[in-house]
Amino acid sequence: MSSQGKGAVFQDSGRVVIVGASLAGLRAAETLRAEGFRGHLTLIGNEPYLPYDRPPLSNAVLTGWVPAEHTTLPWRETLADVEWRLGVAATGLDLSAKQVRLADGYTVEFDRLLIATGTRARPWPNQAEAELEGVFTLRGRDDAKLLQQRLAAKPHRVLVMGGGFTGSEIASACCELGLPVTIVERGAAPLVGALGGTIAERVATLQRQHGVDLRCGVMVTSLEGDAQGRLCRAHLSDGSTIDTEVAVVALGAIRNTEWLRDSGLAAGTFGVGCDAGCRAFDINAIVTDDVFVAGDVARFPHPLYHYQFLSLEHWGNAVEQATVAAHNMVCAPTARRPHVAVPAFWSSQFGVNIKSVGVPSAASEVVITQGDLASASFVAAYGKAGQLVAAVTFNHAKWVEFYQRLLEQAAPFPPKIPGAFQPTLSSPAPAAFPDPIRGPNPTHEATVVLTGHDPNERRVQWIPRPRAT
Ligand SMILES: Cc1cc2nc3c(=O)[nH]c(=O)nc-3n(C[C@H](O)[C@H](O)[C@H](O)COP(=O)(O)OP(=O)(O)OC[C@H]3O[C@@H](n4cnc5c(N)ncnc54)[C@H](O)[C@@H]3O)c2cc1C
Repeated sequence: MSSQGKGAVFQDSGRVVIVGASLAGLRAAETLRAEGFRGHLTLIGNEPYLPYDRPPLSNAVLTGWVPAEHTTLPWRETLADVEWRLGVAATGLDLSAKQVRLADGYTVEFDRLLIATGTRARPWPNQAEAELEGVFTLRGRDDAKLLQQRLAAKPHRVLVMGGGFTGSEIASACCELGLPVTIVERGAAPLVGALGGTIAERVATLQRQHGVDLRCGVMVTSLEGDAQGRLCRAHLSDGSTIDTEVAVVALGAIRNTEWLRDSGLAAGTFGVGCDAGCRAFDINAIVTDDVFVAGDVARFPHPLYHYQFLSLEHWGNAVEQATVAAHNMVCAPTARRPHVAVPAFWSSQFGVNIKSVGVPSAASEVVITQGDLASASFVAAYGKAGQLVAAVTFNHAKWVEFYQRLLEQAAPFPPKIPGAFQPTLSSPAPAAFPDPIRGPNPTHEATVVLTGHDPNERRVQWIPRPRAT
């Protein structure tokens, strides 16, 4: 039965405010209108642009195929009457007054609020070095445009600091452009935090086959500029140096939760905690009624992973979670839906289409169920304690749905695959994820993080009980 059929409670009037005018914010706004919400709808975004798509920024935009301005996300006509407040950041949230404070001094009142403020690129830790001309990060449209222009000017070498998905995609774009590129990765191999050592070793080979100067197990310790403040050299922890005039900082993402610091919500390093129905938790882990969370900034429990909390940086999750959050914002309490989609993401790099379903980093073992590891065309199934927890395909995208169904059924590991396949690694091997204590830890965290609790978030307010007299 639809939410309306069950007696929707919040449809004709009221004010919904969405903070974060990007993928999750936009899809939530569309869903609100599709679910029949006719009240006032405001989208607040600190970027000056209407919502745009980020995945093309690290490939099609960098290679010059798509101008950065052409990444605007399409949206439905039903949003014609939305109030856009763009180019202004939310700086605070007053839960009791139900107000969002803005950087321009205004406040915006809400009846229901959706937090969709996503993540930003982690900057180079030394500010003076980060400000050298030629040092870039990549998160937004302006970043991509500047980097594209710089790559088009044919630098003699590009240094990518961090071999996670973004760093590897940037390096792949450089190879497409015929530019010499070096990746410096602190972990044992690129993508090791996301895919584990066994598969990441294959990624390392792939990158080297495409000409990447890949240096693993080392870090960039400092960046050196010339007298004009232009980057000229990077110093590495093994004592070596790399002469380069372009460096891209690809050290992962930071969740945009600072504006919620004093709000009383459970907002921290891994995002804003919420229940499976996307309702935000306060710092006492009590669920709020009128504040919802979606997208990269959300941290939510997932039944397939024993209700541990997931923090994802996945396009598909932003869309799905925003849809569920928006539905739950306006439906009757009995019609609420849980956000239980199996996590999924994709990446295109070095001619390989990588797709992942589930949470590979939750695994202790991996097995190649189809294809051939050596040819970079295979399916890797990940398992823990006899249960399938993820599958990653390299140029085997048509199998993703099959594994997704297995994951939804909490299928056993190793999985039984129909047909006659000749896998190259047919018995489980260690997945070889880095030990978070012993390391070496990758430069870039996985784009999916599973946490039982956030150790930084022990901010519970003890409210003394009134004494019995
Ligand atoms: C280069 C790149 C490549 C990617 N490639 C892939 C891919 O191949 N596959 C995949 O699955 N995912 C990919 N992703 C991830 C995907 O784009 C994200 O998961 C998705 O954008 C998340 O959407 P979101 O709306 O939750 O957050 P975001 O897109 O981060 O949007 C949040 C918005 O809120 C704004 N904001 C932040 N703080 C405030 C504030 N205080 N006040 C107002 N506004 C604020 C931000 O500026 C931003 O506009 C990629 C991301 C990048 C950067």
